[in-house]
Amino acid sequence: MLLAIDDTDSRKGMCTTFLITELLREFDELDLMDHPRLVRLNPNVPWKTRGNGAVVIRLGNGVEKKDLVGFDGKEIFSYTGEYVDTEDALERALKVVERWSETSEEGTNPGLIISNEKPPYEMYQEAVKDVVKLEDTISALEKMDCRYTGLGNKRGLIGALAAMAWIPSDHTYELITYREQHRWGTKRKLNGIVRFDKETEHSFDSYDHEEKQQAVAPRSPCPVLYGVRGERPKELLGALNIIEGESIDRWLLFKTNQATDEHIQESKVGEVKPWTSVHIKGTVTSLPKTIPGGHVFFDLDEELTAAAYEPTKRFREIVKKLIPGDKLELYGGIREEPLTLNIEKMKVVELSEKKVKVANPQCPDCKKRMSSIGKNAGFRCRKCGTRAEEFDIETKLVERELEEGYYEVPVCARRHLSKPLKRVLLV
Ligand code: ATP
Repeated sequence: MLLAIDDTDSRKGMCTTFLITELLREFDELDLMDHPRLVRLNPNVPWKTRGNGAVVIRLGNGVEKKDLVGFDGKEIFSYTGEYVDTEDALERALKVVERWSETSEEGTNPGLIISNEKPPYEMYQEAVKDVVKLEDTISALEKMDCRYTGLGNKRGLIGALAAMAWIPSDHTYELITYREQHRWGTKRKLNGIVRFDKETEHSFDSYDHEEKQQAVAPRSPCPVLYGVRGERPKELLGALNIIEGESIDRWLLFKTNQATDEHIQESKVGEVKPWTSVHIKGTVTSLPKTIPGGHVFFDLDEELTAAAYEPTKRFREIVKKLIPGDKLELYGGIREEPLTLNIEKMKVVELSEKKVKVANPQCPDCKKRMSSIGKNAGFRCRKCGTRAEEFDIETKLVERELEEGYYEVPVCARRHLSKPLKRVLLV
């Protein structure tokens, strides 16, 4: 039996991953098969609360190997084995969803699906890369051997079905710990994040050393204490001993599509679609310009504006060093109005030559320096009247302050789905 939920939380509280721990309590007579899955979907959908994540568990009768994947008063193991179907599962799960969802908040529209079959993988691909219509999700659900309920405008069904359809070919893990309920909404006490980051070779996005900012604890009043991300479950479990400060009420280790770049689609500068994320190649055609607020913009192939917004902090200093003629590959989300690419990652493929003016052109006959006729109007020799163009000026090459290669936004500005260079360069 596959069980998926989405859209149960609001900015004021709750977290869909926490609700899964409550559902595991409810279905205590069944075993958890494989890891619970936290699946991130299109980060550009306007109605997401935070990271556009949906959660899936598989329940059944475990028979073979077991792995420790959580703790909630007792150890939670995941198994391989047979799946089972329970008749009243939807009713039981719905009670838990209604008990914990932030349904009183506008914008919280929970979706709950219990299924004996996996939806087609395309349902995931579309939802991670594009915007899906609720009618399409409902018609897919109607064709499946499943039961489902949507609350509010039922939009949560989109994420729940898409998450169920995910096949974890490339994947990472996130260990999420939860606070004792009496502390929800209070300031989190956490020590040891820097140590965890330094001591775990295969973890990523825990601490921004330059901004001196942690990236594991949410800022909202939700039940999460912290979440650490990485390639290796065992290493992540080390956080339970390294990160200290508050007692942990429960924890769960999720398999996720985070840090995989699965939201990115190949595109061309003139063909990008709003609300999607793309990988494009192009040439810089304007000098980067900083506007009030600290956002930096430049043009690519004279067709598309690319942006490094203020939250990308020091990444903007790299972008400011670009000049027309630089050949780039950019990864990022497309904003609709005005059509702009929000850079997540950049590969400087080829730097163009940077030249500075040394002198006005020399008259070929008189060997004297010519004089400017006016702004962008060219030059004339005062003695013999010979004319020269703007591009005839004498220049010298200056060294570029930028190197070819990959650059990425800092940890504090990273999207959950963005593949960190630490992973890109491994492949
Ligand atoms: P959190 O990460 O804290 O769980 P969230 O950012 O996941 O919150 P949700 O509250 O789940 O935000 O809201 C996202 C909503 O967008 C859900 O209703 C989900 O079904 C829907 N959704 C997700 N992906 C798509 C998509 N590609 N097209 C249309 N709707 C989508």
